[in-house]
Amino acid sequence: LATGDSVLATSFQERPYWWVDAPPEASVSDLPPDTEVAIIGGGYCGLCCALELAEHGIGATVLESNELGFGGSTRNGGLATGGQKFVVSGATHGMTPAHRARVLEDAKESLATLEARISKYQLDADYVRCGRVILAHVPSHYRRLERWAELLRSEAGSDVTLIPRADLTAEIGGARYHGGLLIRDYGGLQPAKYHRALRHAARARGVGLHSHAAVSAIDRAAGGFRLKTNRGTLRSRHVFVATNGYTGPLVPYFQQRVIPVASYIIATEPLPDGLADRLSPRRRMFSDTKRDLYYFRLSPDGRRVVFGSRPGVFDTNLTVAARRLHRQLCNVWSELNDVKVEYSWNGNVGMCMDHVPHMGQYEGIHYALACNGSGVAMMSYLGYQAALKIAGRQDRPCAFDSSKFPEPPAYRGIPWFVPLVAAWYRARDAVDQMAG
Ligand SMILES: Cc1cc2nc3c(=O)[nH]c(=O)nc-3n(C[C@H](O)[C@H](O)[C@H](O)COP(=O)(O)OP(=O)(O)OC[C@H]3O[C@@H](n4cnc5c(N)ncnc54)[C@H](O)[C@@H]3O)c2cc1C
Repeated sequence: LATGDSVLATSFQERPYWWVDAPPEASVSDLPPDTEVAIIGGGYCGLCCALELAEHGIGATVLESNELGFGGSTRNGGLATGGQKFVVSGATHGMTPAHRARVLEDAKESLATLEARISKYQLDADYVRCGRVILAHVPSHYRRLERWAELLRSEAGSDVTLIPRADLTAEIGGARYHGGLLIRDYGGLQPAKYHRALRHAARARGVGLHSHAAVSAIDRAAGGFRLKTNRGTLRSRHVFVATNGYTGPLVPYFQQRVIPVASYIIATEPLPDGLADRLSPRRRMFSDTKRDLYYFRLSPDGRRVVFGSRPGVFDTNLTVAARRLHRQLCNVWSELNDVKVEYSWNGNVGMCMDHVPHMGQYEGIHYALACNGSGVAMMSYLGYQAALKIAGRQDRPCAFDSSKFPEPPAYRGIPWFVPLVAAWYRARDAVDQMAG
């Protein structure tokens, strides 16, 4: 068995595999003195807002504190999903049936909008509607998948099929899992290429994109706002905050509600010939039913495995994480024992108390925050919805637009409780494993 550093390729790098083809970008032209909409955060959410505003003839300036593409938008797994997250996380439990239906409808719409925009703007993002299989961690979780299938079918209109364990080898090699739920309408993309394509589309429509422009203050001013950045000040009529898992102290109200949680990913070296077809014959996206879940896939060229999870209860460095994730990966596919890790990286997702994303306005500032782990389609959609709202073009309010944004008790921006929650999730996964 490969152990210790022998699991790391000699070319091992602590950076996202996705950046090989589409690295983040510096863009340091002078800031304009004023703009119609100042967008804080240059991820999918900010860019999709800017792009839609441009469609309505409204000028926007994107302000990003790091390079463009620094955040979760170029670090994620690239699994593009609709409403499954809300069903799986139990976020829809306390909702009225009408509210739940609207949430699932908008979640489905988020994926449809992603696909429509990829096609409309010809975004080079390696998007494929390949389907996603959610895999049962233990036999009893298959019954859970049956319930999820019912909900997704009846309330989200998803095209889903249950796969009993005996048939699972058509979807995934190995014998780790106890059945699965295939959601056919979900897809996958290359996250950093999607981000780069959004940058190109936004620029082509006149949007100003500014890297290294951290916003440190938002003040009220005549006719709107004045924003202070480390590259000067600018005035704007509207402000949109799209900082998700990188939300800092700029607006304490947001920092007190969005909990940054790191997720870690590895990409293997290229697989030996023929192995990819045995591991993932239909090239699906995968995740499992654990609370502390694994999510994984082949790279778009089908040559590597990209695998995400948390390496432990506490955050750790990317080399340690690479070794631990490799061990987890070998639990899924023991054939990968001798395949080394070439890339290891992490990034922040934005979690919140009620496990649903939020958009709205606070003291006149528009925002869309808290992807809760799933934001390729959703945060793109909320950026788009926020633009429609600012432009006065929504034909109905988005289901995630609400004045209620619950605050975790005793939370002031330091996520001290994340290791406790992670430990609790792991303990419950272990109990499930023992119970079968
Ligand atoms: C490791 C990982 C795996 C994931 N896997 C998946 C997946 O497979 N499928 C899925 O659907 N979702 C996934 N996600 C979630 C998804 O990546 C995010 O939901 C999405 O990218 C969020 O986009 P965003 O634009 O809201 O935020 P981000 O892309 O995170 O951008 C926010 C930006 O705001 C900037 N910023 C913060 N403060 C300021 C300031 N004061 N001034 C200027 N700029 C500021 C930050 O620098 C950052 O670049 C994953 C996330 C991670 C981290």
